[in-house]
Amino acid sequence: MTKHPSHETYVIIGAGQAGAWIARTLRSEGFAGRILLLGEEPHPAYERPPLSKDILQGRKLAPAAWLITDDILDELTIEMRLNCCVDRVDIATQEVICLDGSVEVYDKLFFTTGSAARLPHGFDTSERAFVLRTLDDATAMAKAMSQANRAVVVGGGWIGLEVAASARSRGLDVTILEVGTRLCARSVPPVVSQWLYDQHVDNGVEIVLNAKIRSYCERNDQVEVTLCDDSRLDADILVAGIGNVPLDGLARDAGIAVDDGILVDSRGRTSIPGIYAAGDVARFDCKWAGLPTRRESWANAQEQAIVVAKAALGHDCEYDTLPWLWSDQYGKNIQICGNPELGRTVLTDPGVSHDARCWAFLDDTGRLVGAVAIDAPRAFRPLRRMLQKGHTDFPTEGWI
Ligand SMILES: Cc1cc2nc3c(=O)[nH]c(=O)nc-3n(C[C@H](O)[C@H](O)[C@H](O)COP(=O)(O)OP(=O)(O)OC[C@H]3O[C@@H](n4cnc5c(N)ncnc54)[C@H](O)[C@@H]3O)c2cc1C
Repeated sequence: MTKHPSHETYVIIGAGQAGAWIARTLRSEGFAGRILLLGEEPHPAYERPPLSKDILQGRKLAPAAWLITDDILDELTIEMRLNCCVDRVDIATQEVICLDGSVEVYDKLFFTTGSAARLPHGFDTSERAFVLRTLDDATAMAKAMSQANRAVVVGGGWIGLEVAASARSRGLDVTILEVGTRLCARSVPPVVSQWLYDQHVDNGVEIVLNAKIRSYCERNDQVEVTLCDDSRLDADILVAGIGNVPLDGLARDAGIAVDDGILVDSRGRTSIPGIYAAGDVARFDCKWAGLPTRRESWANAQEQAIVVAKAALGHDCEYDTLPWLWSDQYGKNIQICGNPELGRTVLTDPGVSHDARCWAFLDDTGRLVGAVAIDAPRAFRPLRRMLQKGHTDFPTEGWI
């Protein structure tokens, strides 16, 4: 194993999922120097998927969702500073300057600043109007849900749908307002959007597609949404889930190349030597998409971070993992891999049980490009494996 000088300091900006995995991997792969993890939130690194599921349904974060505990800090001798927002990075002096005035000198620097929820035009967060990104957001939203009868969710993407499902599980009346013609249109083909639509409607959610919102306001403990066709909806709580923006401003201001995310290669290297990025904030050379891509998923935050930490230590490794993500709604598990949205032909596995689904998506030339499964992990696994290995000649026999 390469020896790394123990007097070096590696600083990680962002104590979230990717930041935690970089810190843990640096140490487990033999880095002997100082590891400093700086996080703006008051909580040590945690996984976010439970926020829209467990937390909104009134449960606590499971112990396994905490990625950095006191035991891990002690065992791996990682220094972590919370409530610490990095204000500026000076590349010339290799300094990280925090809002509290503290300054840290780095030998290598990692950006894992993640992304922030995008705010709809004219939408202000309040006690009744929410976005969902942090544990504190989720805790406040769960409390509001416990006292509410009716919710309006703006955005029919993954976060919006999970919020809607959690709100229904607590007995709220829910309306989803989606500006597009179908749900999750950016990530799944129409057959999956339709399945999602049916699930939500069957569970009592009202869905308005092509919903163009004119304005939001709060009046008499209610939020009011007015659509462009002059119709109006009132609710006790309003949640916006219309996507995220990468937190790349710090890197951009420091002179690092960004383009809707920090630009990195498949080893996480930015345009400045010795500076890396991983997770939601990184736009990387993705062989699966064939163009620089930003992925916002649990698997990406962990796996890319591990590769980037190893690459920073000189290991010969590249990040080329197949896109994979999941969602849980109404007790059903949805898994997606590859690029199903590029599929032109849909094949269905007739072998899965009545309530389950497994779809394979083929492109114009008949090659497998993606798969989606609902409560069908056994049928999904071989498709995921085929895609990861690049075996895309799809044996259509037995599929309909
Ligand atoms: C509600 C929710 C549900 C999700 N569910 C799923 C799911 O079911 N399946 C799935 O695959 N993915 C899911 N995801 C996506 C997944 O959680 C994210 O892709 C992942 O958390 C990204 O990790 P990250 O480390 O890049 O960013 P984050 O986990 O967001 O961490 C970034 C950290 O950096 C900190 N930071 C930012 N700027 C600074 C600064 N200047 N100084 C100091 N600290 C800073 C932030 O405060 C934050 O703590 C979900 C996400 C959310 C929000």
